[in-house]
Amino acid sequence: MSDCIFCKIVAGQIPSKKVYEDDDVLAFHDINPAAPVHFMIIPKVHVDSLSECTDAHRDILGKILLLAPKLAMEQGLSTGFRTSINTGKGGGQEVFHLHVHVLGGSGPRPL
Ligand code: 5GP
Ligand code: ZN
Repeated sequence: MSDCIFCKIVAGQIPSKKVYEDDDVLAFHDINPAAPVHFMIIPKVHVDSLSECTDAHRDILGKILLLAPKLAMEQGLSTGFRTSINTGKGGGQEVFHLHVHVLGGSGPRPL
């Protein structure tokens, strides 16, 4: 997906503030945070949204969800956090590369 902004972040063509990276996933802070702590976890492989996921994405989806509490804890969200997956235009999705938002910290209730 040459014109996908998150694929470009994965490829290092666009800089990001990384939270975590391994062979399969990347987590980085949202450029326009909606909470004191707001990062996203994405698969490195491009998939447009949750709606396009198949059984082939079972492992990566599980991995991302299991990473969320671990990374949230590391980012200081010890009392809890919120996750959000916007899917499709009607679901408020703006970047069509699957991502799980993780938000928390003091301040107004996010989303
Ligand atoms: P969506 O509405 O698709 O669930 O959320 C996309 C998110 O990506 C938005 O919260 C937006 O601020 C964030 N975003 C868009 N472009 C960039 C970028 O180039 N870098 C980073 N770090 N975040 C981005
Ligand atoms: Zn992509």
